[in-house]
Amino acid sequence: VNRIVVKIGTSSLIHPNGKINFSGIDQLAFVLTDLRNQGKELLLVSSGAIGVGMDKLNLRERPQEIPIQQAVAAVGQSELMHIYNQRFLGYSQQTAQVLLTRDVVDFPESRSNVINTLEQLLSMGIIPIINENDTVAVDEMDHTRKFGDNDELSAVVSQLMAADVLIMLSDIDGFYSDNPTKNQQATLYSAISMIDQTLLEQAGSEGSRFGTGGMLSKLKAAQRVLAANSTMVLANGKPPRIIFDILAGDEIGTLFK
Ligand code: ADP
Repeated sequence: VNRIVVKIGTSSLIHPNGKINFSGIDQLAFVLTDLRNQGKELLLVSSGAIGVGMDKLNLRERPQEIPIQQAVAAVGQSELMHIYNQRFLGYSQQTAQVLLTRDVVDFPESRSNVINTLEQLLSMGIIPIINENDTVAVDEMDHTRKFGDNDELSAVVSQLMAADVLIMLSDIDGFYSDNPTKNQQATLYSAISMIDQTLLEQAGSEGSRFGTGGMLSKLKAAQRVLAANSTMVLANGKPPRIIFDILAGDEIGTLFK
């Protein structure tokens, strides 16, 4: 495994009380830098802009109106990058901000621009930190439609960059037969090789309080990864150190392959 995309969800970056999880972010910076120092190529797809913006602006409830969400995301994105820069620089690792929309793949020119930029960053040893451009893309934030939160974007990035693995970190140990926070009988899938209707139904549509993707968008991401003959691992991002174990081949979370 040489080229790795890591997607981190809002729930791993923001505590349930709405405060920023600095130790988690710091550990993520440590782990990714260490892997980079081992010669691997890393791309980080990070959610959390709205969550960080809410904390910065002292908002307790996630705003419903799209323009307010976009404004809060714009505040939060620069703050989030500030935090990442600080933490990564603590390990002497350079990062770059890349804001994309999922439809970049539909336009050959923008697609090749994105690939060229990301390839260049990787060859310079820089870790790109990617998010959906919330000012431009609206679907992503529409809480009622619940199909974004960077899950599919991370799969698009993996595909564009021909990554060996997409490691998707969430607040749950993997994909279960039902929402385990509501059904204690739910069982964990250790490996999935095909996404069928049953699985899509088991994904339901409920996300956590700060996350917006839910399991459905994670399955759609997995679908894209499987179609590209690549690999995705869905695991619990608390703590981010788990990435080491996943890459060591330990049976962790749900392997989509
Ligand atoms: P993130 O912010 O990390 O992207 P989300 O909140 O979007 O995470 O999605 C994770 C949540 O999805 C879990 O905490 C759980 O409540 C919910 N969920 C719904 N169905 C399932 C399922 N079948 N397996 C696992 N989690 C599920």
